[in-house]
Amino acid sequence: MNLQIDLEFIAAEALNRADDYDAFRYFVELDERTDAELDTLVEKIAAPIIAAIDCKQCANCCRSLDVYLTEADAERLAAGSFIPIEQLLNDTIDRDRAAANEEWGVFRHKPCQFLNGTLCSVYEHRPESCRMYPVFTPDFRWTLEEVLGGVGLCPIIYHTIEQLQRELGW
Ligand code: SF4
Ligand code: SF4
Repeated sequence: MNLQIDLEFIAAEALNRADDYDAFRYFVELDERTDAELDTLVEKIAAPIIAAIDCKQCANCCRSLDVYLTEADAERLAAGSFIPIEQLLNDTIDRDRAAANEEWGVFRHKPCQFLNGTLCSVYEHRPESCRMYPVFTPDFRWTLEEVLGGVGLCPIIYHTIEQLQRELGW
């Protein structure tokens, strides 16, 4: 599978097609498949795309997104990276900004301060949200607006939505 991973191209395409994605969201809401069937279809489409795209050559999510983390994430990161938890809380994690979104913590810096080129320097100890991204399921139908928030920045999301549109006859 040879997929376009040019980030400028994908960002421009997503911008051009903002209205199309909005309409597609309503189309998906009305699709006759059950939520579980739709989730299964999306996972089937996303799996080979995830396998085909090398995140180590991209890292756009690490440059662009707010990274939320739990207390357990912070403790694991501190232990694994040998950065004292107090230092992480002072320099790296913003508790106040996270609280406004009912989260425990969020990295202060964008791009992420642990990003080294396109590689994560704390890969083994990274927060759960980094491990999970991008998230398509469960409840793809009802989280599609959130998923589409990343369509212009994440090649995996972009190609999964493209392929899904073809599969659903959009
Ligand atoms: S911790 Fe690693 S994976 Fe997570 S945003 Fe930072 S560089 Fe990316
Ligand atoms: S998850 Fe998406 S944005 Fe992040 S590195 Fe992989 S392809 Fe790029």
